[in-house]
Amino acid sequence: MKILVINCGSSSLKYQLFDMDNEEVLVKGLVERIGIDGSRLKQEKGEDEFIIEEDMKDHTQAVKHVFDALTDEDNGVISNLSEIDAVGHRFVHGGEKITSSVLIDDEVKKAVKEYSKFAPLHNPANMMGLEACEKLLPNVKNVAVFDTAFHQSMPEENFLYGIDYKYYEEQSIRKYGFHGTSHDFITQKTAELLGKDQSELNMISCHLGNGSSICAVKDGRSYDTSMGLTPLEGLVMGTRSGDLDPAVVTFLMDEYGYDTKKIDNVLNKESGVLGVSGVSSDFRDLEDAANNGNKRAEIALKMFANRAKRYIAGYMAEVGNVEAIVFTGGIGENSITMREDIMNGFEQFGIKIDSEKNNVRGGAHLISTDDSRVKVFVVATNEELMIARDTKRLV
Ligand code: AMP
Repeated sequence: MKILVINCGSSSLKYQLFDMDNEEVLVKGLVERIGIDGSRLKQEKGEDEFIIEEDMKDHTQAVKHVFDALTDEDNGVISNLSEIDAVGHRFVHGGEKITSSVLIDDEVKKAVKEYSKFAPLHNPANMMGLEACEKLLPNVKNVAVFDTAFHQSMPEENFLYGIDYKYYEEQSIRKYGFHGTSHDFITQKTAELLGKDQSELNMISCHLGNGSSICAVKDGRSYDTSMGLTPLEGLVMGTRSGDLDPAVVTFLMDEYGYDTKKIDNVLNKESGVLGVSGVSSDFRDLEDAANNGNKRAEIALKMFANRAKRYIAGYMAEVGNVEAIVFTGGIGENSITMREDIMNGFEQFGIKIDSEKNNVRGGAHLISTDDSRVKVFVVATNEELMIARDTKRLV
């Protein structure tokens, strides 16, 4: 069975074609600058690259070029589109209506539109990718896998904000959480590594990348998570502020005359470790700068580590009997020093990482000492595979 996985952003589209008989990636690609001058598709098959540079005015044209690339005589991997059995789409916000991956129907589309108010950049872009596939592959089933779905198991005491309950009732204002597909994948993989049933697993999943979130998993399901109504809450991120006193927002708006669009941009694009350091949102640059004596880069890294500690420790108390702490995402999988900095201080709770074992990137590795009370792992996430698996199961 061949499954195409599509992840649409407002001007980009990532794709992977899986052979689900052995979960092999046959080909993957990225379309950039959709609707902007200089559109470009890059497809990778092993070491080989195939590039199409042609204007793509919308997502329909981009999907059409993806299909051309997949079936290209010299660079493609299938001879006919009829070889694609189903398409799995990454969707961002399914609100309270979507609690698991779903075959797409009118109800799902309605939910996507309804919750676009909380994901105005992502949900409409995801929808455009879906509509393009429906148009160009009319007989193929489409499945939606939502970032928010895994977190729908959170109890009310963890998803409500400390504001008048009417805002939840009237406007659906609550914590939804994101990166659910990754936290779900990591939870499944950790259960496998520990050789136990997922439904009996309590753990903390730390997805640390350009966007970062931590998830408290109780009985194999999301119990609490650091992102909120939108992906702005929680950890200090590449360019997002994460948690801050809400009064900062109104103060900045008053003092600088910022409107909602401007403050949204400040908090999402100009903040986080980029804003604090003034150097970069990329942790490789920050680590280099800090090693060369840049104080603000050093502070930004310390802020990131301290915020992560706070969530991990808090979630351990919320969940109880935590068996594993798992690091994933670009930073979680690759930054040896950041993992060390975050776990530094947990020795007092009997949790220790082994600096030699921690000297790894990606894969699936145990990095804690033999006598650590909680096992600490590095596990490479794979959201696309998770989407492909759910799609296979549903079709
Ligand atoms: P993601 O959003 O999960 O793709 O993560 C991307 C981020 O991972 C980059 O912006 C970097 O900050 C971080 N990253 C990737 N490789 C490394 C590395 N070797 N050391 C430190 N950070 C890394």
